[in-house]
Parts: sequence; C-alpha cells; structure tokens
Amino acid sequence: MRSIVVMNQKGGVGKTTTSVNLAAGLARQGQRVLLLDLDPQAHASLHVGVELPPNAPSIYHTFTGQRPLQQVRRMVSPRLWLAPASIDLAATEIELADVPGRESILRDALQNLAQEEAYDYVIMDCPPSLGVLTINALVAAREVFIPLQPHFLALHGLSKLLETTALVTRRLNRDLKVSGIVLCLYETNTRLAADVAGDLQSFLASSEPEAPWAEGRIFQTRIRRNIKLAEAPSFGKSIFDYAARCPGAEDYAQLADEVLQMAAPATAGLPPVTRAA
Ligand code: ADP
Ligand code: MG
Repeated sequence: MRSIVVMNQKGGVGKTTTSVNLAAGLARQGQRVLLLDLDPQAHASLHVGVELPPNAPSIYHTFTGQRPLQQVRRMVSPRLWLAPASIDLAATEIELADVPGRESILRDALQNLAQEEAYDYVIMDCPPSLGVLTINALVAAREVFIPLQPHFLALHGLSKLLETTALVTRRLNRDLKVSGIVLCLYETNTRLAADVAGDLQSFLASSEPEAPWAEGRIFQTRIRRNIKLAEAPSFGKSIFDYAARCPGAEDYAQLADEVLQMAAPATAGLPPVTRAA
C-alpha cells in the first residue's frame, strides 16, 4: 500500500483536483483506492458527489474518537472509497489542542483499518494550512505530492512547506519523502511556466542529500489548464466520469500511469511510530 499526502498551504493550486482525479485515475487502472478528505470545506467529497447531511458520520468523528474509519468510509465508484469531510473538522484544531498524541490519530485509524481492509493507495487531500489535520496526514503517509501552479511566485512559499515536512520527518515520521511536484494549471504556451519548471528542477538538484525532498522529482506529466476540470466538481464527478476525452482526463490518466510506474518507497505500508528525537 502506498500512502500519499497531497499538500500545499496555498489554496487554489490544484490539491483537490489532483487528489480526486489521481485517485479516480488509479481506480480505473484496477487499484483499490481510499481518498481521505481532510479539508473542512469538503471539496473533495463534493467532487465525488458526496454531500453529507448534518451529523452524518465523517472523518471528523474519527479524529474525535467517535467512529473508526471503517464506519466512515464509503464506496463512491468501482474501487474508489471516500472518507468524507464535514464542516465540523474546522473545530479539530481547538478540540484536539490538549489531546496527547493528537498528531498520530489518523495513522492509528489507518493502521486499524488496514487490518481489516486492503487498499493499494491511500490519498489524502489537505486543507490550505499547516495545522493539525495536515500534520496528521504527514504522520500517516510515506509520500508527499505537492501541486504547484507555475507562476513567478511559485517558489515563494515552497521553502516553508518543505521546512514543515523536514520538521515532521525529524520529529514524527522518518519515512516521509517529498516524492513529487505536480505542475497544475499549466499554460503550455508560456515561457514563464517552462522557466519556473527549470528553476524548480535546479532547486531540487541543489538540495542537501538528507533533505526529505532530495530524491523528489517534478512529474513529467503537466496538468494543463482545462475548463472541464473546473466544471466537473459541480456535477459531483471525477474528470473521467464527466468528460472522459478532454485534455484534463488525458493529463490525469497520464499522471496515474506515472505514479503507478514510479518505484514505490523501499518499504510500503504505513510508517512506523517515530519517537520524537
Ligand atoms: P486547492 O484544493 O489547492 O484549493 P483546487 O483543486 O480546488 O485547488 O483548484 C482550484 C480551482 O481551480 C478549482 O475551481 C478547480 O476546479 C480549478 N482547477 C484546478 N485545476 C485546474 C486545471 N488544470 N484547469 C482548470 N481549472 C482547474
Ligand atoms: Mg482543496
């Protein structure tokens, strides 16, 4: 099983679009995929057609210890399961403030789930912040994918993001690696996008070998700007169910292939417990 967190503390960079359509793309390729919606805005849940009535079981109940993931996740299409978010998640930052071990609630819940159900991929869509929900994702995963929109401020903010992963790696999860940067909302015809991609490449190449992103790559697949990708969420469908032949569907199918072909981390599965150094 590969566990992947899709994160960037900036909003509007393509986290949810990538989480949902990569998850759907992998499921189409025969993989069993669990998508975790960790954003109180519940955009990923809506994108796959799930809008919860008030008080319905959501991943909030897992964070507060009221329900195991087994009672929260549901199948949304063949081989694709979703643990939906609800607005209550917004309160976790405060509600969990005094809970010991609050960073590893999600990892423990996934470990418990994995004893009963087998998934090939767990994909976690994060909120645009580096709070307790994102930290939980980083502790529960082995891989980080960072969606980035290649404009001239793209590298700005990336260092903060990478520092956070380095901190989590040192203190909470030594197995965490930034395995890839996904260029989203890519403008094929501008030099700027190509320049930013080049700058990123040299940045990665120049990092210290022990940095958790030192072996990271920029995915070959660029996700082009495509209006169908922006329309699909309001129909509650992944791009493959909404417009199977558009450039957006092509790009996410190709990204899924690339992810399938890349070597999985040396040891798959959930990360073991790391004792704070
Ligand atoms: P985040 O989760 O990082 O906030 P989203 O995935 O929700 O970002 O994307 C932000 C907005 O841009 C959404 O309205 C989404 O539909 C749209 N969008 C994302 N990727 C593309 C793309 N490649 N082409 C066109 N619109 C996109
Ligand atoms: Mg989002």
